[in-house]
Amino acid sequence: MAVIVDKERCPQNHPCPSVRVCPVGALIQKEFDAPTVDESKCINCKKCVRYCPMGAIKEA
Ligand code: SF4
Repeated sequence: MAVIVDKERCPQNHPCPSVRVCPVGALIQKEFDAPTVDESKCINCKKCVRYCPMGAIKEA
């Protein structure tokens, strides 16, 4: 079970706060775009899911 980013819910206008809580650097954001998940690094801890105030990061 991976995590996915719902671009419709992400306002894409600020630094993603969830990037800072990922313990393995798997959440990547370019400028203010919706972040993407590097599945080769993600350990599926779901911290980013809990931390996103917009509910834009979800379990797939
Ligand atoms: S589930 Fe955990 S390891 Fe995976 S991107 Fe989110 S915070 Fe990082």
